[in-house]
Amino acid sequence: MEQSDGTIEAAETGQAISSIQEDALAMKLVGAMLAAKIADIKPQYDFTTELGFIYPVVEQTIQVKGKEVISILESLGDKGLLKRSFFDKLLRCPRCQSINLRPSIRCPKCASRNIVRGRVLEHLACKYVGVEDEFRAGGRYICPRCKMELRTMGADYQSRGVLRKCRDCGEVFNVPLTNWVCLKCSSVSDDDKVDEVSIYSYSLDETKRNWLEFELQPKARFFEFLRQHGYKVTENARVKGRSGAEHCIDMVATRDDGLVSHSIAIGIEIAREKVELDRVLDFDVKAYDGGFHNKVLIVIPELGEEARKFAQLQRIEILEPKELGKVLALGVPRAAGKSEKEPFEFKSKSQLVQYLERQGYKVKKNAKVEGRSGAEHNIDILATRDEGIITHRIAIDVEVGKRPVGLDRVFKFDDKAYDAGILDKVVIGVPGLTREARQFARHQGTKVFETGQLESSEQKSSES
Ligand SMILES: [Zn+2]
Ligand SMILES: [Zn+2]
Ligand SMILES: [Zn+2]
Repeated sequence: MEQSDGTIEAAETGQAISSIQEDALAMKLVGAMLAAKIADIKPQYDFTTELGFIYPVVEQTIQVKGKEVISILESLGDKGLLKRSFFDKLLRCPRCQSINLRPSIRCPKCASRNIVRGRVLEHLACKYVGVEDEFRAGGRYICPRCKMELRTMGADYQSRGVLRKCRDCGEVFNVPLTNWVCLKCSSVSDDDKVDEVSIYSYSLDETKRNWLEFELQPKARFFEFLRQHGYKVTENARVKGRSGAEHCIDMVATRDDGLVSHSIAIGIEIAREKVELDRVLDFDVKAYDGGFHNKVLIVIPELGEEARKFAQLQRIEILEPKELGKVLALGVPRAAGKSEKEPFEFKSKSQLVQYLERQGYKVKKNAKVEGRSGAEHNIDILATRDEGIITHRIAIDVEVGKRPVGLDRVFKFDDKAYDAGILDKVVIGVPGLTREARQFARHQGTKVFETGQLESSEQKSSES
């Protein structure tokens, strides 16, 4: 399983996640909503403010005001984390943005504001049309044009209903022309020129609750956990698989401890209820093609039964919230953090052991390991490091002879390690390896160190 096939680079597509984390205020707001301290964010009218409305809850929770509140809410809305619901529409002066507008209605024919509203009557004899008030004269109706009395509705006059009439040009109409006078800058705008602003109330998208809860809390801690273990973590890593396909893996953690380079493929699967087999299968295929043998899948809230069986079979380490919490509470052994700085070098076997111990490994010389076949194997040096999520086991074979180490020795070691289920393999060859042995080792993902001489007291003869 050659790891070096996988090339990893950071995804350029900025995910919602990272930008939320950058925006500490938005994060704080969502955090407060999640903690159910805020169920809904509703606007309140406040015509003393520039916008004309405020979101008191947001102002109190994250101490921001005005447009900044809107931009935080909108960005959360755009990312689909908050659901917008229409609340109201406000009109604004297109010139100065003030919301203090007064409607002004006018005659659609001459634009005069001198218009009246009332029941409109028509005198059938002279065709005069006017509002009721114009006809009224001491308890009777007199036509203002021909001065005849109107007596019977339907016979000598009729009602056209409640309408408007322009006192300047006499036009009778139903719908007046409306425009808006700004009380701040006094400009007059036509109805269709005035700015309309919709205001919304916001609520948490419940389908994203599990995802958000993970994003805002454990994810950052998990990141830190890996970093403290000396890993470099790439989020949304693009990995070129052996098949040629490119995969995106949620997190790839890599650490080179000098002896062996460790890579962990970490998947994050979040469902509303259970994460099912198809998701685990998908992750496993990607991790396999990407050449990872360390696989960790964070599952929220839990794994389905079938999926669990499959994960076990494929040696995928599953972290459900409970285990994740335990891992995060573990902390980090002192030795692990500083591991990256020390250059890897050794002059003797005991120096190598000391080096590994400083890296946080438990080291066993001449370790007896039982293989899957039932056979017992002897491993020169077995280094184990338990990191909470993954236990790294490195089998180290030290071959010392007069001539370069041959293919048969490396083959035998590889076979042992395979049977013992140890995937990190190192061969130290003194004075070196033959070309075939080196090629075979590389192909099997075994790291090779060739050195001229180990300190003589440490030597062990592999030649009979
Ligand atoms: Zn008349
Ligand atoms: Zn008019
Ligand atoms: Zn204005």
